[in-house]
Amino acid sequence: MNRRTIELLAPTSLYDASRADINNALAGEPSYRQKQVWTALYEQFLLPEAITTLPKNLREKFANTFPVALELVTKSSADNGDTVKFLWRLRNGGNLIETVLMFYTDRATVCVSTQAGCAMGCTFCATGQAGFNRQLTSGEILEQIARASRYALDRDRRVSNVVYMGMGEPLANEPAVHESVDRLHDDMGLSARHITISTVGIVPGIKQLKDWSLPVNLAISLHAANDQLRDELVPINKRYPIDQLVDACNEYLTVKNRRISFEWAMIKDTNDRKSDARELAAICNQLSLAPHVNLIPLNPTPGWPTDASPMGRVREFCAELESFGVNATIRRNRGTDIDAACGQLAAGQLSG
Ligand code: SAH
Ligand code: SF4
Repeated sequence: MNRRTIELLAPTSLYDASRADINNALAGEPSYRQKQVWTALYEQFLLPEAITTLPKNLREKFANTFPVALELVTKSSADNGDTVKFLWRLRNGGNLIETVLMFYTDRATVCVSTQAGCAMGCTFCATGQAGFNRQLTSGEILEQIARASRYALDRDRRVSNVVYMGMGEPLANEPAVHESVDRLHDDMGLSARHITISTVGIVPGIKQLKDWSLPVNLAISLHAANDQLRDELVPINKRYPIDQLVDACNEYLTVKNRRISFEWAMIKDTNDRKSDARELAAICNQLSLAPHVNLIPLNPTPGWPTDASPMGRVREFCAELESFGVNATIRRNRGTDIDAACGQLAAGQLSG
């Protein structure tokens, strides 16, 4: 029995159900009900109990067949309400995951989790420190976006961008992530160019991603430009060392010809020296299309007592990269005071 059959027999989330599944469940009802339910779920982002266009008994029947997967534990906000973090308990299994919604003047971005926990064990990452629990289904990923979209709609905003940068490694859960991206595009109407997959560098996953039909953005969490340091910070580098990663990026570029970005968490006296900038520039030069480098000051985590590079050093590093011909931008971490920054997710609750 394949994964899809299992999900259909017992959908984890109502967003695991396709349009055909929903229509089948409404067999015997007047046909306009199908459109009502679809609009409620995919345009208005309502939970079943709030679909008041349906009679109560039908609403209940629907909710029993297609359950809500995410129970809200807490919602916290920072940056004057422009960053909102949702902490959810998964109905199936009880693990905690998080979703972050960020409002900007010109867009609203949702950062989604793809796994409960993560098996990759990056030393500086709170999710990695806590370990892996389970894969999320495509519906659980989509439900995070739908729930954040409802919150945005209540404030007259629409979610325009989705980044797969929450808990978990998207390309270690490729089938569900791929399905969620297709449905985000087809059913929620998001442009593929507004969708970004961030990966620690799972080489077989990058090879799969190059064959996806939709032209999503790819971000690689590089953080170190030599194998010795990267083995330490990002242990999966021992399995997929930098040379293999660069080859996979070039294969991807041959097919997609879309600029990749490299993520670089700035860690004091670890990967922020001029020699690191030079090594990083050398890697950028090996790519057939010049990548863009995003510099993000580290969010120190309790499990790894290391500091972020001071802002002055981040700016110098950025200038050094530019002097080596690399395009780089310093990114501000949103929501650090509510632990909403990527890599902080669920840490507070998990560590007690
Ligand atoms: N697993 C994927 C996506 C989730 S992590 C990946 O690793 O790319 C999202 C981003 O947050 C990655 O670039 C990751 O390296 C970064 N990150 C994790 N912990 C961090 C921390 N403590 N400070 C700054 N960035 C961090
Ligand atoms: Fe997993 Fe990404 Fe954290 Fe590494 S940085 S442990 S891959 S979530």
